[in-house]
Amino acid sequence: MNLPDTMHAMVLEEVRQPLVYKTLPLPSPLSDQVLVKVIACGVCRTDLHIVDGELQHPKLPLVPGHEIVGMVVKGGEKVTRLIEGDIIGIPWMAHTCGECKYCQRDQENLCENAVFTGYTIDGGYAEYTVAYEQYCFPLASMYANASGAPLLCAGLIGYRSYSMINKAAEKIGIYGFGAAAHILIQIAIYQGKKIFAFTREGDTGAQEFAMKLGAVWAGNSLQIPPQKLDAAIIFAPAGNLVPKALMDIDKGGIVVCGGIHMSDIPSFPYRILWEERMIRSVANLTRKDGEEFLNIAPKVPVKTQTQLFPLSNANEALENLRSGKIHGAAVLINK
Ligand SMILES: [Zn+2]
Ligand SMILES: [Zn+2]
Repeated sequence: MNLPDTMHAMVLEEVRQPLVYKTLPLPSPLSDQVLVKVIACGVCRTDLHIVDGELQHPKLPLVPGHEIVGMVVKGGEKVTRLIEGDIIGIPWMAHTCGECKYCQRDQENLCENAVFTGYTIDGGYAEYTVAYEQYCFPLASMYANASGAPLLCAGLIGYRSYSMINKAAEKIGIYGFGAAAHILIQIAIYQGKKIFAFTREGDTGAQEFAMKLGAVWAGNSLQIPPQKLDAAIIFAPAGNLVPKALMDIDKGGIVVCGGIHMSDIPSFPYRILWEERMIRSVANLTRKDGEEFLNIAPKVPVKTQTQLFPLSNANEALENLRSGKIHGAAVLINK
């Protein structure tokens, strides 16, 4: 394959500054990496947290982006599984050590030496990127385009959050109805669950979107749902939703916080946690989560709603996400 020497990318040079459209040398894959031509890359809330300096110590300068759909164009000499032309997804978890105590006990999502796409190494806001072969997912052909991008983080983290809930839970509250929620609701309904969607006050657009996707109820996050919920998943980065969700769930229920960053959680009376209610967070993903989720998604089939932006308009995509103007997921595309 004829490859160029350079590529375009959107680069974060300093936190709290807009990304800069730049020409960079084509990255070259390590022996266990593939070089990938990026077809599309989702814009995740985590990217905003990185750009805004809310996540510590990003690699700088950095090419953000960790919801990458791309085509393998070249492999390092130790690559065994993927070949040129394969369509793959590249997620947030770029590499783990396999040796720390977490990796040894099947919790690679907590690896002490983990490498993260678009955070500690360059990601997908570019025309090309490199990725460790063993951490890429083959994608079903229906997702070989922008529609697959939101599955790679919003979908995966949503699915991991959902899998922390007691399997018998029927009535599930979702707090923050964006990219993750719009994917998760389709899987949950496919599995017979009832979804109650909570949005920012006055965001009737998101409430209508949730109802259109099959929620049994939608309202703003201050409202009391019509029935006690069995479980709650919080995707919005607002700590005050934790005590609210605790009050909305029934005995023995769980509140899962699906985001990587959240504002402080206000103090709350012990009685709303009493009766074996639980609060937990979800960090990163394991490859097993990814395989399970990407196996179920085409069966549902999960359809993503995307708003497309050319790569060079990444700042506009981030700004629209920040101000709540994206319904579904924002995705950067390369021509
Ligand atoms: Zn490890
Ligand atoms: Zn993400």
